[in-house]
Amino acid sequence: MDIILKNGTVVNAGSTLKADVGIEDGKIKQIGHDLGEAGRVVDCTGKYLFPGGVDVHTHCDFTLMGMKTADDFHSATVAAAVGGVTSLIDYAFPEPGETLIQGLENWIAKADGRSVIDYGLHPTIFEPTQRTIEEIPDVISEGHTSFKIFMLGFANFDDLAVDYTRAMAAVGRAGAMVNIHCEDQCCITFMADQYNKKHMHGPEHFGSSRPPIAEGIAANRALGLARIADVPAYLVHLSHEEGLDALNDARAHGQTVYGETRPIYLKLSEESLQGEDAHLYTSWPPLRAHDQMDILWQGLQSDVLQTVATDHVAWSRDQKAAGTLVEDLLPGMSHLETLLPLLYSDGVRKGKITREKFVEVSSTNPAKLFGIYPQKGAILPGSDADIAVFDGEKERTVRLQDMHSKQDFEIYEGETFTGWPTMTLSRGDIIVEDGMVHAEPGRGNLLKRKSHTEM
Ligand SMILES: [Zn+2]
Repeated sequence: MDIILKNGTVVNAGSTLKADVGIEDGKIKQIGHDLGEAGRVVDCTGKYLFPGGVDVHTHCDFTLMGMKTADDFHSATVAAAVGGVTSLIDYAFPEPGETLIQGLENWIAKADGRSVIDYGLHPTIFEPTQRTIEEIPDVISEGHTSFKIFMLGFANFDDLAVDYTRAMAAVGRAGAMVNIHCEDQCCITFMADQYNKKHMHGPEHFGSSRPPIAEGIAANRALGLARIADVPAYLVHLSHEEGLDALNDARAHGQTVYGETRPIYLKLSEESLQGEDAHLYTSWPPLRAHDQMDILWQGLQSDVLQTVATDHVAWSRDQKAAGTLVEDLLPGMSHLETLLPLLYSDGVRKGKITREKFVEVSSTNPAKLFGIYPQKGAILPGSDADIAVFDGEKERTVRLQDMHSKQDFEIYEGETFTGWPTMTLSRGDIIVEDGMVHAEPGRGNLLKRKSHTEM
């Protein structure tokens, strides 16, 4: 063996056992006891061995509303690795007039030579034309098996709803899945116009300018269109029970649908949009009322929701403060490094989700849904040796100066999470040990994904 992780507790979705894990040639070779000699033996007594996190919603090296993100694929994936995340799937955006393949090629050029962990790409459909529809099977055969659709104005969703539905049907016929951003542009424009007339421009009005019903209307419409298009649908970053109700209704109609939430909705509420730093907390959809957090945790534990993904997007303070109207406040924030500690500290330790559910929603389910299981998402013989060695008792207070994202603020500054990775392995390489990053830029590979596995 190259490495043996000794005396740890191996946690997979649905099983927990004390065992040693033997690693050879980047793969998990054997799980058991008395595994023989190894180049290196790591004592994991008192630690958990989790399959490395699989974050299926990130935005690295991306420009939105004329602003370029602070993270490129190197800084974002280093932050991921330190936080125990060993795969991510980023959204590839074609420029106007470009094909999906060109959009993917642009994104591969950004990640190539920089990413320190394996990465996949979701192509984004902005132009649901006949050319796009004809391209979909080729994109899938290249290993990109999930297609993003935004029900928002910048994607012209309302103008092109029939074309988008045709594209969704083409994705379904080809055996792939659509990922849908569910916020209704009509609601948002209506509210923003009212606020603009009353000169209500600050982040304190941001939450009510994108109300829960905007998510409810869009989620119901998205799933209704997915039903007539006969395509499995994955709703990204649900923030509110309106979105969960839509999933339950679609399931009652026999549809194959999945839901993602985001760590900020599990930890923060709309109160964060009232303080001095309120503009740092704006996101699409926005933070919601306090009572929604428990509903989302319960949604994870009871399988209404399948995944937690960050929607990681790193900005500067100045960029976040630049918007002058509610509709041009930049959405999102950095989150890759704190995803697993937050889920463990607030979820597992506070009894909201079990430890196996933690593994399921942060690693196994996203790997299955996006066609990289059991290569990723499990500690099984033959799987890639992507492992977070995790100390469930380790307390650490979040400080900006310790973080690896290039974002120049930290939304959890001063917050203490209990439960942090002490070592991260990617394909058998120890890429982080005790906070030291050992990964060469560019060691991450592009993931060619199969179609999703039904859960
Ligand atoms: Zn996003």
